[in-house]
Amino acid sequence: MRIRIGFAVCFLGTLLFLSPVLAGDKWNAELPNIVIVSTGGTIAEKTDPKTGGAVPALSGKELIAAVPGLAEIANVSVQQLCNIDSSQMTPEIWGRLSRKVNELLADDKVDGVVVTHGTDTMAEGAYFLDLTTRSDKPVVFTGAMNDASSANPDGPGNIMNAVIQAASVEARNWGVTVTLNRYINSARAVRKTQTINMQTFMSGEKGYLGYISGKKIYRINERVHRQYLPLPKKLPKVVYIATYAGADGSLVLHAVDSGAKGLVVDGVGAGNVNKAVYEAIKYALSRKVAVIISSSVYYGAVEPVYGGPGGGKTLSDDGCILAGNLKGHKARLLLMLGLANYGNDSEKLKELFDN
Ligand code: ASP
Repeated sequence: MRIRIGFAVCFLGTLLFLSPVLAGDKWNAELPNIVIVSTGGTIAEKTDPKTGGAVPALSGKELIAAVPGLAEIANVSVQQLCNIDSSQMTPEIWGRLSRKVNELLADDKVDGVVVTHGTDTMAEGAYFLDLTTRSDKPVVFTGAMNDASSANPDGPGNIMNAVIQAASVEARNWGVTVTLNRYINSARAVRKTQTINMQTFMSGEKGYLGYISGKKIYRINERVHRQYLPLPKKLPKVVYIATYAGADGSLVLHAVDSGAKGLVVDGVGAGNVNKAVYEAIKYALSRKVAVIISSSVYYGAVEPVYGGPGGGKTLSDDGCILAGNLKGHKARLLLMLGLANYGNDSEKLKELFDN
């Protein structure tokens, strides 16, 4: 008997975990239908009184219960994908998130999607979905810099603004965006720029796509880069490697010998590396590992001006692919999806990065 009760509780628990939770008490046919997919992060964390650290604490249902007035904006339902700090995110979990969001976008009854996510890896997660989803409907990543137990939690306001954006026809055709503190950023250009400040997500030379004031979307910029790569069943191992004065190239050698199919080498300046790293890159290329050269400089594109100590030749002459103005962490995701879709076809991969 006890086993049967146990099974029933698990089964019911699973149903509740997966079944959407509705904000407000009834559907309003006049309003758009928005689904919030909750993954965790500070927005859903509380400070553990025993340790003082932030721990996952709020379900998707509790998140929207803290946002009064949501039901006047849209019919909002919540689905919980996971509840983790985004420092623990992986491309495989983003793959599950992408499948879930693609399903929702394909549903005529869904007008827009909000993803609540930790801010530490939000810029990359949003870019992964920007590459693997294809819809005119708004997909809005949001989160919080202050957790739910702080004196000024920013989560509820960010959820309200994200739902306003996801429900607005003015916000269509922007691809996936990152919206905190009212500012709307393109997933491709956005970076987390401040470790603790609420106005942390910015898009540098690209600028914001727009912002939310009251219940209105102000559209001030458009997407010029949008790419789509079908989500593969398996993601290849691609390693991101920072370089710096005195780097000895050992990280490149280790990545190749531990089975990496691709490398992103974050060069200095406009994409330069020292002699030791250059020799290690040549070893990687000899083992048919795809090598992307990105730059750790905040703005601007990688230029084929630097090569190895031989002078004259550039890294692209040697077979490296330049990342353009795409930053290293995102170049890694594009290379991962590019290798999964095209293999190490340097022409196809070059096209992806020339975009
Ligand atoms: N460590 C948190 C996370 O990335 C930070 C936040 O969400 O603001 O999940």
